[in-house]
Amino acid sequence: MADHVVVIGLGRFGESVALELMATGADVLGIDIGEDPVARMNARLTHAVQADATREEVLRQLGVDEAEYVVVAIGDSIEASLLTSSLVLSFGVPQLWAKAVSDAHGRILEQIGVHHVVHPEREIGRRVAHLLRARLQDYIELGGGYALVRTTPPAAVIGRPIREIHVRRNFGVTVIASKGSDGDWKDVTGDTVLADGDEILLTGPIAKAERFHLK
Ligand code: ATP
Ligand code: ATP
Ligand code: CA
Repeated sequence: MADHVVVIGLGRFGESVALELMATGADVLGIDIGEDPVARMNARLTHAVQADATREEVLRQLGVDEAEYVVVAIGDSIEASLLTSSLVLSFGVPQLWAKAVSDAHGRILEQIGVHHVVHPEREIGRRVAHLLRARLQDYIELGGGYALVRTTPPAAVIGRPIREIHVRRNFGVTVIASKGSDGDWKDVTGDTVLADGDEILLTGPIAKAERFHLK
């Protein structure tokens, strides 16, 4: 578990990463060059410090060179993002996550060796497109061409055990769980009989997973 995390840059993205880490019980050191973000986050993080993260001696004073998990959440200043990330990498920090604001920014972060590069705008944008177009309740791309989808069961699979319908063979998806009128999620097995109005969670190749509910 990542129990101690340094979050550099307390804009909207850094703030939500930091607060969610706090909510899950981690210690968070937040660093921002601005007075306002630090004042806003002061009482809500383990520590919040106003400092310029592009300065090596500053990072060392704050113990970032000893950290195990660091998130660089600086976006608009690509220069500050790259300088900070490069310093953190030079300390040998084993897990560096950085936010990219463009494809080029992300490519450079990867080239300098950042372990995890995230593109929040691009990822959420793609997700919204899939949710909207296929009218899904939830859609998560798993990589490797697979997706996890929350949706409703199509008429073709309602009222008979999944095993008899050969859902996996005929539709190319695996139904993992279902939620009926009682509101509880249950594992789906070959014996499960889905009903109109259930919700289901399924995985499969993207095109099959997102079109299954239309069958
Ligand atoms: P978001 O979209 O998450 O709000 P953003 O992509 O617009 O952020 P910025 O606003 O540039 O990115 O940066 C986020 C935070 O990083 C800001 O609060 C900013 O003050 C801080 N920041 C920028 N440069 C530095 C730096 N050199 N050291 C520490 N913090 C910095
Ligand atoms: P198979 O005989 O195809 O290898 P199996 O050993 O899993 O499948 P059963 O559990 O009897 O056999 O299921 C029969 C069929 O029911 C499977 O081929 C599959 O198409 C479908 N099936 C069972 N469980 C699921 C599930 N969770 N999601 C989708 N389809 C399922
Ligand atoms: Ca911005």
